[in-house]
Amino acid sequence: MTKTFKPGTLCIQAGWKPKNGEPRVLPIYQSTTFKYSSSEEMARLFDLEEEGYFYSRLQNPTTDAVAAKIAALEGGIGAMLTSSGQAANFYAMHNICEAGDHIVCATAIYGGTFNLFSVTMKKMGIDCTFIDADASEEEISKAFRPNTKAMFGETISNPGIQVLDIEKFARIAHSHGVPLIVDNTFATPINCRPFEWGADIVTHSTTKYMDGHAVCLGGAIVDSGNFDWEAHADKFPGLTQPDASYHGLTYTKAFGKMAYITKMTAQLMRDLGSSQSPQNAFLLNLGLETLHLRVPQHCRNAQAVAEYLEKHPRVAWVHYCGLKSNKYYELAQKYLPNGSCGVIAFGLKGTREDAIHFMDSLQMINIVTHVADARTCILHPASHTHRQLSDEQLKEAGIAPDLMRLSVGIEDVSDIIDDIEQALKRI
Ligand SMILES: *Cc1c(COP(=O)(O)O)cnc(C)c1O
Repeated sequence: MTKTFKPGTLCIQAGWKPKNGEPRVLPIYQSTTFKYSSSEEMARLFDLEEEGYFYSRLQNPTTDAVAAKIAALEGGIGAMLTSSGQAANFYAMHNICEAGDHIVCATAIYGGTFNLFSVTMKKMGIDCTFIDADASEEEISKAFRPNTKAMFGETISNPGIQVLDIEKFARIAHSHGVPLIVDNTFATPINCRPFEWGADIVTHSTTKYMDGHAVCLGGAIVDSGNFDWEAHADKFPGLTQPDASYHGLTYTKAFGKMAYITKMTAQLMRDLGSSQSPQNAFLLNLGLETLHLRVPQHCRNAQAVAEYLEKHPRVAWVHYCGLKSNKYYELAQKYLPNGSCGVIAFGLKGTREDAIHFMDSLQMINIVTHVADARTCILHPASHTHRQLSDEQLKEAGIAPDLMRLSVGIEDVSDIIDDIEQALKRI
């Protein structure tokens, strides 16, 4: 029933469905354990023969209700929450990749994900080839190998603000028999639903706009249910062959379209346990209830700030896909017609010290390692989040060394511009 509602309604109504006499508002089930009257009933849960709660590392009613809301917003068939966005991207991959496998990924992605794929997963035996997402289908296809298991990109890259051609990526992934996984953190399902363009799995750092108030870390993985694992059974034995840790159950046979997300909960969460706490899921749900109001305001403010910066004589360049001058304007019009996100990248004329002096002169706008919350904030990736990358790697990730990442909040936009104006005057 929820599927027929508009996103703005789903933000409020999807997820928690109270029965008679139950709390109208999603309760925090602050319990690790759940009671059953017979050992037989509990055993059926352990064999995945029946659905139910037994231990909050695997599932909890509060986190499940919020996962269901996010699944509804994305138009997916199921979702799982994780303790952070990093865990979400790791789980999304690890659910279908193991030692000896390979993935193809857009170069312009979040620094944390870049490290995860290029260093940590490499140590686990999973190789990643990074490709220029703007290259031709032919060029990108060259990166695929017989052992490639997934393709990955971000709808809007953090912090480069590059827009992904999702349809192109989906075509390439599918022609090689692998799913497309899209990190939709910056766009949110309010501005883009990647499943509508052919993506198979969507991930989120819910820490950003979904929470929106900078109070709780979290992540989510959403399954469209569209990828046919059985059609490529040899590539995905973890889903299509018996799981010894569940008495030889085969996920695709037992759960059909829900195979991927069920395996992730039953196996990865059981064994790795990066669960989101019920308390955080409750806070995330409060954020989601206003997502459809906040996101358009972030976009309106960012558009105004981007236009202001573009005209300012001290500003060397502005990168925002809502600007007509932007390389990604056309793609943004296609995939993000109602607005992209609140994050702008820009550089000042002058030295690196000028940029730092500018940031230090801001009064209302704070320097924080965060993006995409209600408060406008700024960060210099080359000195903060992306410190580990060389200038060469920075360039490959679409990040100029002088790039400042301004995350435009939902304050009155004239106060945001005033603060930038006074700081620009001091350099
Ligand atoms: C922040 C972010 C992540 C990581 O999320 P955490 O919640 O900080 O672990 C992943 N992808 C993107 C696009 C992000 O912006």
